[in-house]
Amino acid sequence: MKKTSHTLKDLTKLIMHQAKEKGFGTKPEEINVPEKIALIHSEISEAYEAYRNKKIEGRNGFKEEMGDAIQRILHLAGTLGIDIEEVIIKKIKKNKGRKWNWEKLNEKHV
Ligand SMILES: [Mg+2]
Repeated sequence: MKKTSHTLKDLTKLIMHQAKEKGFGTKPEEINVPEKIALIHSEISEAYEAYRNKKIEGRNGFKEEMGDAIQRILHLAGTLGIDIEEVIIKKIKKNKGRKWNWEKLNEKHV
């Protein structure tokens, strides 16, 4: 089977189409932004719990929850008219010249 690839713009379009069909809102006045942010947090927490319990594949698995989180982020970005591809590319370029002080951070670094 041929694997198709999609840009974030393509995925956002699909997600917005489904959001309209399912009644999740597609305009800023149709959503509650803090609630959508909380739902993104919720999916990230579900991903953490799945990973913690070594449930990587399948329903409610780590992979699925990561996908849920990204879908919710793309839905929020699409509803607010944020070009998330542009934002990400801009940040990657910004981070290229950025340095982190690993001595001050309690974070794994290789
Ligand atoms: Mg989920």
